[in-house]
Amino acid sequence: MEASEIQAVRADWLVTPTEHGTAVLRNATIYWGKSGKIIAIESVDSDRSPSINAVLSEEANRDIAVLDLGAAILCPGLVNAHCHAAMTLMRGAADDLPLMDWLQKRIWPMEGELVDPTFVRVGTTLAAAEMLLGGTTTCADMYFYPEDAARAFVSMGMRAQLAMPVIEFPTRYASDADRYLALALEARDALKGEALLSFALGPHAPYTVSDATFQRVVAYAAELGLPIHTHLQETATEVDESLAKHGERPTKRMERLGVLSPDFVGAHGVHLNAEDIARLAKNAGNIVHCPSSNLKLASGIAPITALTKAGVNVAIGTDGAASNNRLDMFEEMRLAALLAKVQANDASAFPAEAAFRAATLGGAKALNLSKMIGSLEIGKQADMIAVSCDAIGMNPMFDPVSHLVYVASRADVIHTWVAGNACVIDRALARNAHQRLTDARLQMAEFSDRVSTLRRA
Ligand SMILES: [Zn+2]
Repeated sequence: MEASEIQAVRADWLVTPTEHGTAVLRNATIYWGKSGKIIAIESVDSDRSPSINAVLSEEANRDIAVLDLGAAILCPGLVNAHCHAAMTLMRGAADDLPLMDWLQKRIWPMEGELVDPTFVRVGTTLAAAEMLLGGTTTCADMYFYPEDAARAFVSMGMRAQLAMPVIEFPTRYASDADRYLALALEARDALKGEALLSFALGPHAPYTVSDATFQRVVAYAAELGLPIHTHLQETATEVDESLAKHGERPTKRMERLGVLSPDFVGAHGVHLNAEDIARLAKNAGNIVHCPSSNLKLASGIAPITALTKAGVNVAIGTDGAASNNRLDMFEEMRLAALLAKVQANDASAFPAEAAFRAATLGGAKALNLSKMIGSLEIGKQADMIAVSCDAIGMNPMFDPVSHLVYVASRADVIHTWVAGNACVIDRALARNAHQRLTDARLQMAEFSDRVSTLRRA
């Protein structure tokens, strides 16, 4: 490889989860090639787990221009493992309601009037901009018109996994479950060559999808090697209704239908009992914790300490901006750590390293992307962020992992790279992405007027 094809960045700290812990390197430089793959990580000293260290040969090193960030932390980009990006256009349009009222009385009627390919493209572009500026490099997105959402993510330079929706009832997007599935397969076929994209099937929830449809989803997922991403036991009502209708809890039903597997992603998992947790552990499923959304809709607090203890992989997500109302993974990471402590009545529960891991490698694992992203290691993609340590509130700093979780905010993110490409430079979007955002903001105005009218209806 020519030296001119290699890029490098240096910072006072580099922090990454590893398979067995967290590596904290001082005075570290990371190198990546044209393919976006990390080729070397150098550091003069390490606080813990120095095993990821590899030194570039002196010959290769000679002509590489290194971007020196000084007092900053380099770490993997955050993985938002559950989102509905286009719902950004309904941010703040249905506040202070419980889940079922929020969904049935406000969101579904608004979506019935508004959602089309333009809505999805504009909303997803706004969401991608917000996420990239805030240090999120990958998003698992579940929404209608996934092909349009996917194109918006790619045009912003962001990595995304499209959990293509399947639901029983008709929407503007599709008429019935068969049609949703057909559109999902079409979208995947049209886009499967895109390096930044991956795909999952997204049956909405056990309470909106029939046994027969779940079985078809399972068959397609097995045939195509796709994860299955669904909302799971977000509310207590949902569990009660499942017991009344199916005579079993949703997680048990998912197991009976063959939905649970290492490729299963359950969003929320708030109302999981010991039996559900054991079932998820037995099947090596994944749970995406969405603390802000669960608090705002008063759904509850997911038992992530118990899940982690049982061996279930926990990831973190924002959910959509219509129920959060931010797409801010720093906030979710901090809330995850804090809520776990009060829930377990134990200040040592879900420590900073666990929250940082869930927001990075845990997310990558849930999306079956951990061979490619989720940690800074040689051979993985350079999906990473630089967090400034300049703010007065970031000092003094004894442990950068603690500060990433308990102190830093998305406003401290100065650079974001996806597959080695700079998407955010000095807190601003790269030129192409900035232009896309400017265009989307113009179109946002039109949708805002329509949402505003519908809110009053
Ligand atoms: Zn959701």
